[in-house]
Amino acid sequence: MVSGPFDVCVSGSGAVAMSLALSLSAEGWRVAWARAAAPASARADVRTYALNARAIALLDRLRVWPALKAHATPVADMAIRGDGEGRLNFSSWSQHVSELAWIVDAAQLERLLGEAMRYAPRVETVPPLQGDGPPVPAHLLAICEGKHSDTRAALGVHFDRRDYGHAGVAARLRAAHPHHGLARQWFRSPDILALLPFHDPEPGSSYGLVWSVPHARAQALQAMSPADFEATLNQALRDSDPEAAEQVGTLTLASEVASWPLALARASRWSGPGWVLLGDAAHQVHPLAGQGLNLGLADVDTLVSVLRHARATEPWRHAGDERTLARYVRQRQWPTQAMSTLTDGLLHLFADDRAPFKVARNLGMRAVENLGPLKHWLVGRALDA
Ligand SMILES: Cc1cc2nc3c(=O)[nH]c(=O)nc-3n(C[C@H](O)[C@H](O)[C@H](O)COP(=O)(O)OP(=O)(O)OC[C@H]3O[C@@H](n4cnc5c(N)ncnc54)[C@H](O)[C@@H]3O)c2cc1C
Repeated sequence: MVSGPFDVCVSGSGAVAMSLALSLSAEGWRVAWARAAAPASARADVRTYALNARAIALLDRLRVWPALKAHATPVADMAIRGDGEGRLNFSSWSQHVSELAWIVDAAQLERLLGEAMRYAPRVETVPPLQGDGPPVPAHLLAICEGKHSDTRAALGVHFDRRDYGHAGVAARLRAAHPHHGLARQWFRSPDILALLPFHDPEPGSSYGLVWSVPHARAQALQAMSPADFEATLNQALRDSDPEAAEQVGTLTLASEVASWPLALARASRWSGPGWVLLGDAAHQVHPLAGQGLNLGLADVDTLVSVLRHARATEPWRHAGDERTLARYVRQRQWPTQAMSTLTDGLLHLFADDRAPFKVARNLGMRAVENLGPLKHWLVGRALDA
């Protein structure tokens, strides 16, 4: 039964929507959760996500982290290779952190957040939105509907989207040798291949694959038999980095192969009177730096703290006050823009096959490798998107 009035109506069914609803409920706000029913045909998400320290701290406050951590893998080191002599190595030890990131199971993260929602006080589930207004009276409509947001469109907000012409191919893999917590990434021009260390299905020697390839190649990879896919992947690894291929050992598939279209996108406005955008509904980045959800969870963290501060200092303002929401937008725009520029810049740098570009980008990688403070700064941004 729906009983208002509500402070905030959270619209969306993913990790950002649930984290926001849980955070607001913990702060004493009355929340309506407008979620879509999962389609009956929905398949399990085979992705693994790299989550940074700020995202983990939020999930810990929401009491979701202990159960997620039991199945997560810490990244101790990261090795990034260019398509020449370029290489970048990051280690938790030299960054003075206990781990660079945690690799988690995307489906399990959503499942655990969903379970927490069942027990969250002051949260009621309401029907999904039809149009641009909340289905129930609420001061603020928080739109966390992902990149294809109908509510954002109904509000007339433009979503400036540039298709990369690539898809992110994901799968779970077993490796012949242990990963020792080392995440690996190869810029193969035009592909980008990443192996994220994981423990499932094989403790200590499994990986989450994220392979960014042109659309036609993604279709061909998905249409292959498991044996052909494995042969193609193992060959790609040997071609890119024979030494790493030896260390990883033969990779075999441990899940189905799925893919997602990749784009760079940004909403023209992130807030207005009584509404605000968070997560992929506001911004979409290439997964090469594993930052999309980290940015979305940082949006949640920031919005909740802005609302808390406004309630403490200006209690006459309600949650949908435009000036309060503008503070959230100001705090989130720069870090999101910086991450978009970084991932987009790297992608374009490695997309050009002409010899001078190839030499320059690999030299550039080596220069960053030798510049301790710059490396330290880059990791700092990634840990705290
Ligand atoms: C291959 C790949 C690998 C990635 N790896 C990483 C990584 O390592 N680390 C990382 O941080 N990020 C990663 N990302 C990015 C991450 O997946 C997204 O940034 C994240 O899922 C965004 O979460 P969200 O809740 O904003 O949107 P979504 O996950 O898209 O969730 C939005 C949900 O709302 C639902 N919805 C839509 N309209 C409505 C409506 N009107 N009412 C109710 N519900 C609605 C949608 O169906 C959807 O379920 C990766 C992405 C890809 C493609």
